[in-house]
Amino acid sequence: MFLRLITCMLIFLCLCSPSLPAGENRETTPSNPAPRQPKNIIFMIGDGMGLSQVTAGMIANNNYLELERCKHIGLVKTSSGTGWITDSAAGATAFSTGKKTFNGAVGVDMEGYPQKTILEIAEEKGLATGLVATVSITHATPAAFVAHQPFRTMHEEIALDMMAVPVDIFIGGGRRFFSHRSDGKNLIDTLNKNGYRIFDAIADVPDTVPHNVGVFLGDLHLPSLMNGRDTLLLANSVQLAIDKLKTSEKGFFLVVEGSQIDWGGHQNNSEYIIREMLDFDRAIKVALDFAEADGETLIVITADHETGGYAINYAMPEKGRIYGVFTTVDHTAAMVPSFAFGPGAENFTGIFENTAIFTKFLQIVGYNN
Ligand code: MG
Ligand code: ZN
Repeated sequence: MFLRLITCMLIFLCLCSPSLPAGENRETTPSNPAPRQPKNIIFMIGDGMGLSQVTAGMIANNNYLELERCKHIGLVKTSSGTGWITDSAAGATAFSTGKKTFNGAVGVDMEGYPQKTILEIAEEKGLATGLVATVSITHATPAAFVAHQPFRTMHEEIALDMMAVPVDIFIGGGRRFFSHRSDGKNLIDTLNKNGYRIFDAIADVPDTVPHNVGVFLGDLHLPSLMNGRDTLLLANSVQLAIDKLKTSEKGFFLVVEGSQIDWGGHQNNSEYIIREMLDFDRAIKVALDFAEADGETLIVITADHETGGYAINYAMPEKGRIYGVFTTVDHTAAMVPSFAFGPGAENFTGIFENTAIFTKFLQIVGYNN
């Protein structure tokens, strides 16, 4: 009787641990390995990049996107301080400061008070920093990391704010807000005095520049891909920024915006969305390839909001047909996906607020110093 009981217990134990291979000893397996901390962060924002925008790009690209290499997936709640539907300024301010604010605000809270951004904190901690966009560098999304103004339309004030933040490399449009200003100031001169080297094309930037670098790719915004923007411009800009920043001993914090996915949504134009989505994905490949080889870089890819209420109702990509439908020409309240890669990526799963991205980054930037 006693023997039968022992046998039953043994069978029971075996049934309960079917995944434990014979000979493996639980004791020798580290149950709680110390979490790895990244040295560098690359934060990539696809403006207006909801799940349908991602899917449309994927279908158009042989059912594959580079961002599939990210194995830690989450969903981000996108509301602003004043409503369920955010604009890009409040969305980026939530990422950059951890505060929900009113639509249109960049780098200020609900009362209009300036809030220190994660990029400014990274600068203070001695990390190298970078900003790359395919619109004016003073546009809402990049601006929210380096400026503090109540209205996103205050491009000249935003450019002036940038003089106080020694970003190691910025690449984008918006030269006119620095060189042809209503106050008569020439901020290109100021940048030069502040130790910057300013260029008009990424190909002009030498391999090693022992100065901060600014590249103005346009007087205002860059053209869309449909209107002739180089298909490698964003990817090469990200490569240039990484090459410049990776020499930093304390690590770096780089923000990259795929700016015009949103504009395709506002125009209710599937082709515009798809081409900008794939452009962003080429830049994602550059970042992922670097992070994979480097092993010390966390990449987080997400969106500020969805644009267009976009859905795919019919697709025959082999015939060049992806039929998208839209419910609005504006933004929607839908949660947006996030994709993370590298050390620390495990912190970016589940459902979280846009403001949590700031908090999570802050812990990493704080640890580095
Ligand atoms: Mg934007
Ligand atoms: Zn928009």
